Amino acid sequence: MRGEETRGFQSEVKQLLHLMVHSLYSNKEIFLRELVSNAADAADKLRFCALSKPELFEGNSDLYVRIAINKEKRTLTLTDNGIGMYRNEVIENLGTIAKSGTKAFLKSMSGEQLKNNHLIGQFGVGFYSAFIVAYKVTLLTRAAGAKINEGVYWESTGEGEYTLADIEKINRGTEITLYFREGEDDFLDEWYVRKVISKYSDHIALPIEIETKDEKNNLFKWEKINKATALWKRNKAEINDTEYKEFYKYITHDSSDPITWSHNHVEGTQEYTSLLYIPSKAPFDAWNRDSKQGLKLYVQRVFIMDNVEQFMPNYLRFVRGLVDSNDLPLNVSREILQDSRITQNLRTSLTKRSLQMLEKLAKDDQEKYDQFWKEFGLILKEGPATDQANQQILAKLLRFSTTYSADTKQSVSLDDYLHRMQKDQDKIYYITADSFAAAKSSPHLEFFRKKNIEVLLCFDRIDEWMMNYLINFHGKTFQSVSKEDESLNKLTDEKTIEQKETEKAFGPFIERLKNLLNNRVKEVRLTNRLTDTPAILTTDSNEMSTQMAKLFTAAGQNVPEVKYIFEINPQHLLIKRVTEIEDEKLFSEWIELLFDQALLAERGTLEDPNQFIHRMNGLLIKSLVK
Ligand code: ADP
Repeated sequence: MRGEETRGFQSEVKQLLHLMVHSLYSNKEIFLRELVSNAADAADKLRFCALSKPELFEGNSDLYVRIAINKEKRTLTLTDNGIGMYRNEVIENLGTIAKSGTKAFLKSMSGEQLKNNHLIGQFGVGFYSAFIVAYKVTLLTRAAGAKINEGVYWESTGEGEYTLADIEKINRGTEITLYFREGEDDFLDEWYVRKVISKYSDHIALPIEIETKDEKNNLFKWEKINKATALWKRNKAEINDTEYKEFYKYITHDSSDPITWSHNHVEGTQEYTSLLYIPSKAPFDAWNRDSKQGLKLYVQRVFIMDNVEQFMPNYLRFVRGLVDSNDLPLNVSREILQDSRITQNLRTSLTKRSLQMLEKLAKDDQEKYDQFWKEFGLILKEGPATDQANQQILAKLLRFSTTYSADTKQSVSLDDYLHRMQKDQDKIYYITADSFAAAKSSPHLEFFRKKNIEVLLCFDRIDEWMMNYLINFHGKTFQSVSKEDESLNKLTDEKTIEQKETEKAFGPFIERLKNLLNNRVKEVRLTNRLTDTPAILTTDSNEMSTQMAKLFTAAGQNVPEVKYIFEINPQHLLIKRVTEIEDEKLFSEWIELLFDQALLAERGTLEDPNQFIHRMNGLLIKSLVK
């Protein structure tokens, strides 16, 4: 054949093919969905390109997908008259995996891990899924607008290589033939194929036709087997859950059901239809900055582009789905979208819709909401800092681990918290730390435990940043328990006469400490908020918190040294004993030790841990030798 050539698949394609063929795919029929979806995309692309170049239709703008089964040859042929491909496009599209995230992901996974059905589903295996059921696949294609002799032939057995050649092809578009393996006879049965296709194809706006024999006249004819109306344009009441779910899988290539969805037709100053979904699992590349996110954009039912990020704030980047606008022009480009007022308005309303959808989910189905939070909570936590306008509704959606639940699962809402607040309590207390364990065991919590006041335990990296932006919720301000807080005095018991006397008695001790620590601390004072801990460090409200200072340092920024308030628990036996030490040197050793202990509890690290250990051992020996 003219221009014949055999080429090797890119190694990642080989890996994917091998996996697909050799892992037990419980859901073989998905290849039909993938191929029909490619054909529908090809039709969408042609329609879009023809908006500016109508000649690409080559005089025929009736687009379709056709399926023909040949029982003798054991083949199924799927034909479309969409955009088609040039030779270089065939090489690019059907010999490599373009998505950079997929490549990296495949590299990082072992074969065993990849046999997991769900993981494979996340790729959107696409065209290559044909090899799940076929031992050989051939493809004939010609790009819309290309010359008749610019057709391309492609053939492969899905092992290491494929063959290419130039051919003449009269009809524009792509024709794919699958040669079924032994045992895949189901797909040779017209009724079975109809059943599979009708499961997900009614909403595809493109007619899907199957070749069927009119026994009476012994003639073949094409019969349309789908409704061919865009699902999102249909009336909500007429669409059932299965259809919504199938449509989700069709547009996202995700093999799991979505957690929830929201479908809206909006008329008035803005006219659009949106269909938004929350996936049940975060995609493997959710954290990859380059991963494609965003909604599909249609304008008056014509598909315009994929992955439009402009319609959602970054913290809702997990929302999938589409928007069909009546207001945007058909020739809209990414650049125009970027600064269009219509985009801005759409973004505002789609953000609202997404948040309302989550609110409803939280109200109706706690289990599902927990699942959502587990998958996407960390992303949603970017919201309060970046979207002031929606801060209250976002705050409602947050979930925390707290001193009441005391497990790592974040399941307490701020509404739950408000309901459980103490009578005189007018703030929402939280602590930020590096880990759940560090938060839970922090000495700052002793007072709150004693008083039975619930404290939010924040231990995700993003929490300090988020809590800094959360100002209040239902009129209650947020307060870090490691910061100085006047309001706590209200919750503290009246000082007894005894305590007042203690305070007086400790006067000289405090002075002694101040002299010793000098300008290393902001202040030294007694506290009655501790029980088991001799001393802690707190910061005043103007000071940067320890967690924030750590974040800045980790990001390579210079931060001024945090000046702490050193608070002493006069009831603690160690403190009582230390006050009695007269020897200045020994006294200073003890104070340094207590100060380092408090620093360790607050920061989790010490500048000079060896000095700390050395000092402690010295004091231990002294007390044992006695
Ligand atoms: P995906 O559809 O997820 O991009 P596929 O492996 O299914 O991945 O297809 C790769 C590419 O091949 C598509 O993006 C498209 O450019 C091209 N392609 C596949 N099928 C067709 C078709 N029927 N007509 C035109 N192009 C196609």
